Amino acid sequence: MHFSFNDPSVSIAIVGAGGFIGSHLVDALIERTTWRIFAVDLDFDRLQHRLHHSRVDFLCGDLKNEEVALRIADCPIVVNLAAICVPSRYMLETKEVIESNYNHPVSLALACEKSGSWLIHFSTSEVYGRTSSEPCLLQEDTSPMTLGPIGASRWSYACAKQLAERYIASLENLSWTVLRPFNFIGPRMDFMPGIDGEGIPRVLANFCAALLRGEPLLLVDGGHSRRSFTSIHDAIHFIFAVLAHPDKSNREAFNIGNPDNELSIEALATLMRSTYASLRGVSLEGISSVQNVDAKTYYGAGYEDSLRRIPSIEKSQRLLDYTPKEPLEITLKETLSWFIDHYGSVL
Ligand code: NAD
Ligand code: UDP
Repeated sequence: MHFSFNDPSVSIAIVGAGGFIGSHLVDALIERTTWRIFAVDLDFDRLQHRLHHSRVDFLCGDLKNEEVALRIADCPIVVNLAAICVPSRYMLETKEVIESNYNHPVSLALACEKSGSWLIHFSTSEVYGRTSSEPCLLQEDTSPMTLGPIGASRWSYACAKQLAERYIASLENLSWTVLRPFNFIGPRMDFMPGIDGEGIPRVLANFCAALLRGEPLLLVDGGHSRRSFTSIHDAIHFIFAVLAHPDKSNREAFNIGNPDNELSIEALATLMRSTYASLRGVSLEGISSVQNVDAKTYYGAGYEDSLRRIPSIEKSQRLLDYTPKEPLEITLKETLSWFIDHYGSVL
């Protein structure tokens, strides 16, 4: 298996192409390859700037539809990004979350096995589950994956993603690569509640929204949990390292994360407030403050948290010669600037 980036006969399907990661991946594939791109999603609001590109074919379709899965599997490379993947929905729409993260990926995997396509499946760092506050590096092939009880429906997503990984790995005739993102951040992530989405977006987008609206940044249970934030640009470079090395990434799972960008959510709020104040040229007293909120009150029953997630990047360095580079401060500035430009005039 080898695909030259300069070979115009190669085609790649991106399912979830209209989402945060998908829209950046489509941009990068247009810029760095001569491939044909089959972009599939429920909508393409974030890809308006590419709708008339001659190398992109768009399908407004649902992956749960078997015919859509079969069409996607006609491409020799299939990247599956489609999912319900915002934590606030895991408790409210548990059944849909499981179907989206297990049933639909499984039917796509079976279609790819039949057609002989290489499936690059997006899983999640959340498969590592209910991690403790210990400073432990999470390793793809050795770390445990422990979830909470059934009543803690927060784990529905992690469990469905984990079972999808196990199912994919069990298919003997499928070429597959599983990728586990660690909190990607950048322009176009999530939504602005009340403007182009409803509910609670992931933390960075939610803090951007609060800053723009002059509302408090809410620290769930004091903001003591920690995450390793990863620039979307590093993430796209990583996907290209995978695409360049099917021989080394076939039938392997990889973390995509930046251990140098690990901090508490409370520290993230502090950094975002100072970045926003400097972008606006105002003092810290003139912008949103922070406020503590109890997890169960905020997210509802069934919420539990991962306390700390630090990726090991040893495997990706060893097999793919890949190391993330973007410091958190740069990506925060870029993301906040994008939110100001994109939503500033509609608020
Ligand atoms: P996103 O919500 O921005 O994009 C997902 C896209 O999938 C959306 O555009 C949505 O419309 C589409 N989609 C959902 N269900 C579909 C269906 N049935 N048929 C067709 N399209 C459908 O999310 P994202 O941040 O781009 O994440 C992409 C993938 O990466 C997901 O699988 C997610 O679980 C995984 N992931 C992302 C992160 C991150 O930090 N962004 C972290 C962990 C895992
Ligand atoms: N969080 C927070 N305030 C918010 C949103 C999230 O303190 O407004 C916390 C959340 O409880 C978790 C962390 O930030 O500990 C990351 O949450 P996110 O929703 O981004 O996704 P996760 O990494 O949990 O999948």
